[in-house]
Amino acid sequence: MNDLFEIPVSNLTLEEAKTELAHLAKEIQRHDVLYYLKDRPEISDADYDHLRGRNSAIEKRFPELVRKDSPTFRVGARVVSQFHKVRHQKPMYSLDNAFDEVDVREFLSRVIRFLGLSEEAPLEIVAEPKIDGLAANLHYQKGQFHLGATRGDGEVGEDITENLKTISDIPRQISLGDEMGIRGEVYMKHSDFMAINAEREAQGEPVFANPRNAAAGSLRQLDARITAARPLHFFAYACDDVKCLPVSSHWAFLESLKTLGFVVNPLAKLCQNVEDALSYYEDLKTSRANLTYDIDGVVFKINRLDYQERLGFSARAPRWAIAYKFPAEQAQTILKEIVIQVGRTGTLTPVAHLQAVTVGGVVVSRATLHNEDEITRKDVRVGDTVFIQRAGDVIPQVLGAILEKRPSQSAPFSFPTVCPICGSHAIRFPGEVARKCIGGLICPAQVSLRLRHFVSRGAFDIEGLGSKHIDAFFEKGLLKTPVDIFTLEARDSKSLTPLRLQEGWGGQSVQNLFEAINRRREIPLSRFIYALGIPQIGEATSKLLARHYQSFEAFETSIIGAQNPESEAFQDLIGIDGIGSSMAEDLIAFFDEPHNREIIQSLLSEIKILEAERPQTSTHPLFGKSVVFTGTLENMSRSEAKARAEILGAKVSSSVSKKTDFVVVGKDAGSKVKDAEKYDIPILNEEDWEKMSQK
Ligand code: NAD
Repeated sequence: MNDLFEIPVSNLTLEEAKTELAHLAKEIQRHDVLYYLKDRPEISDADYDHLRGRNSAIEKRFPELVRKDSPTFRVGARVVSQFHKVRHQKPMYSLDNAFDEVDVREFLSRVIRFLGLSEEAPLEIVAEPKIDGLAANLHYQKGQFHLGATRGDGEVGEDITENLKTISDIPRQISLGDEMGIRGEVYMKHSDFMAINAEREAQGEPVFANPRNAAAGSLRQLDARITAARPLHFFAYACDDVKCLPVSSHWAFLESLKTLGFVVNPLAKLCQNVEDALSYYEDLKTSRANLTYDIDGVVFKINRLDYQERLGFSARAPRWAIAYKFPAEQAQTILKEIVIQVGRTGTLTPVAHLQAVTVGGVVVSRATLHNEDEITRKDVRVGDTVFIQRAGDVIPQVLGAILEKRPSQSAPFSFPTVCPICGSHAIRFPGEVARKCIGGLICPAQVSLRLRHFVSRGAFDIEGLGSKHIDAFFEKGLLKTPVDIFTLEARDSKSLTPLRLQEGWGGQSVQNLFEAINRRREIPLSRFIYALGIPQIGEATSKLLARHYQSFEAFETSIIGAQNPESEAFQDLIGIDGIGSSMAEDLIAFFDEPHNREIIQSLLSEIKILEAERPQTSTHPLFGKSVVFTGTLENMSRSEAKARAEILGAKVSSSVSKKTDFVVVGKDAGSKVKDAEKYDIPILNEEDWEKMSQK
């Protein structure tokens, strides 16, 4: 955040205010994109609301400085996704916020002034829980649901019709002849959110930060089948043209939504006055911890529809409603220990173990510290009294330490550089926030996931050894490393409780499993490389590496030798067309870990890795040669030329080294020609190349 935030708005000079408004416009826009389009917010909602509040306060004091791109005029973020865009028939607005009672009373005073009512005039207010999900518009034509969209920037949203059709709370058909847009909130329940995250963790996918992100991520899937597999719900609370219904109040409108078949939040309440509304808020604030879904406040709406119509809308929100947000729930407690958890993909996550404390009705004894940088930035130390917060998130966060209460002998936390579970190196690659254990083949935290990969179709492809068996064998201690797969039969034959006597197994199925394992004691090099589960090294890259190095021995020796970036082995590795420097880093890190090399060594006593097949055209002049292409070829694309060279048994590299045999030069070639001249390497033009590559 900018330092200027520290200056109270009333003390800002015109120049400072201008600079800060420019900064805020950019910063809020950036967070909007992260939150609405990428479902990956970087700051808490409370921090975000603070930025917006600050922006409004400065604009209020300096109205002449209000920018055209001010966040005050904007809703959400402009759609830039792959979904079709949908222009809403009527804009979808956001809501103005209230953060305390004074804000709510001011809102009602504004309404009263606007409508010219007396202070004593009755003013009914509908209070509804503010669901922390994402808004959707459901367009019905002749009673049929036919088009559904996200809010987007309020004017244009994304067409997510097929995905919305997977939500059972949304009726496909309603008994209403007119065209009508029904609006409401798509959300995910806590229990479903937890289950999805557990599954994602098991699959090695990043977990969702909170149910809102999970709902948004699930709804904005290009493949509606994925959405269908994620349990989503929908509460209806608005429409785009209430005149289609014979009602004169919002409360009656909610009733008719129910009659039409929509789910309306049962906690909505018709309040007679502001006191009534404020006590509803207090009640819900206390009981929200018992709800099965997240809410982040209460929405107050003026009940009479004729009043709503007269009040109308400002640039981004209705004047007849306000969202009274819950304060972020915070508490103080002692940080007893920082424990590093290792996820199934090897990511090290610091978790704060806390002296148990109640935050918003929930007992909290653990909170996330996110990653290494967060601990350093907040400088939280074991023994500190810390602030913790539950703000829309189910997972509490540590906000920071109270320095005055810091014990005198405390020391900054030093993040481990080895995995606390298996002792392998834990490495942080450039540009990544997470430190990862690279002992994937032995680390118990990762082993079950790695074993599943090891036996998967593109790798060892062991029939009958699915994820379920891997997990069960792992739990029984029968499989700890990939080597154990190949020693299973021998160990089983000596066991007092052999597999065939165990539940779910019979003599024949055990026999089949052992045969399937034995059939894989010989494996092609590319499959073996893929089976190792080295980050970024997928099937295609494994094939590339196998073709390049031919034998496992050559591959292993070269990667170990590539530690030194000056070495020929390193140059050779990054010279392979299709291998980038970050892949090279992952390969090198994997073989640098002694635990991984030990496992491979043991595996080699159980299995045989076949050399990559050499192309048959061994008499061709390009066979076994290393070729580099540079510039644009006129008669064939670079990919075609590359494919042809490979068919003829040549290796294609992306950079020129002493080992290069030919450099093929097309139009507008760059520095590679100079490199070729430097090493005295034959240069071929396109015509030479065509002649040479004739079969
Ligand atoms: P909002 O969430 O403050 O309020 C408007 C929305 O509330 C509506 O669009 C609707 O979707 C929803 N809503 C839920 N229940 C409702 C009900 N009963 N009646 C009417 N509307 C209801 O506004 P917003 O523009 O969607 O988002 C702003 C909020 O989003 C911020 O206050 C912040 O909390 C969060 N946000 C966070 C970040 C971040 O980086 N953390 C970034 C952008 C937005």
